[in-house]
Amino acid sequence: MAPVFAQTLPRADQVPGGVALVDLGPASAPRPTARFQGEPIMIVKHTDRWTAVVGLPLSLKPGDHDLDVQSSGQKVAATFAVAAKQYPAQHIRIKERRMVDPGPEDLKRIARDQEVIRRAFASWRDDPAPPLSFVLPTQGRLSSEFGLRRYFNGQARQPHSGLDIAAPTGTAVLAPAAGVVVAIGDYFFNGKTIFIDHGQGLVSMYNHLSRIAVIDGAQVRRGELIGNVGATGRVTGAHLHWTV
Ligand SMILES: [Zn+2]
Repeated sequence: MAPVFAQTLPRADQVPGGVALVDLGPASAPRPTARFQGEPIMIVKHTDRWTAVVGLPLSLKPGDHDLDVQSSGQKVAATFAVAAKQYPAQHIRIKERRMVDPGPEDLKRIARDQEVIRRAFASWRDDPAPPLSFVLPTQGRLSSEFGLRRYFNGQARQPHSGLDIAAPTGTAVLAPAAGVVVAIGDYFFNGKTIFIDHGQGLVSMYNHLSRIAVIDGAQVRRGELIGNVGATGRVTGAHLHWTV
């Protein structure tokens, strides 16, 4: 087994769209494994404890949630509480009606895109110490926060699942942490897109690019050029949409 390094943790924010940190006992025991809602969960060693780092979906219901933990072949109980959070609403006007009310052919493409995107986010590499601190991938104005409840031309749509950084087309987009490119593509809503797998299920996504500068399978270092800001897909102007 690869060596396990102690590392810093993200800030716990136990709300839908936040991060839960769940203590799984002393690191003198073998590394446990954990699943949440069927998906494998990142476990890191921190101050001589095993800690599960659980990314909480925006759609998660507040209340108590269980992790399925296996430690030395035994099932271990681990529960964490999620508090409610009301995210602000955001109303956006889109000129291209097709981007709000896609036609039948568009809907087929969107379904294909969603399957590719789902698979990219389900990527898993067994890195014992994935990078947990990220720098911003481009320079610009933060134009839309994470979690906003969104209305396009007055119609409720999926909440905002990332952070928007407004910057002119062509602005460099840099890898905010080391990883492996696990998918690139051009999608109906997301435009030109890159996915980077940082290890243990931590996958980041970069949307609306004008150019993709990496190939599928490439290893990237923190700070390496991966593409350029653009306005491809459903946008009102050039920006990077970044999801971690
Ligand atoms: Zn966005």
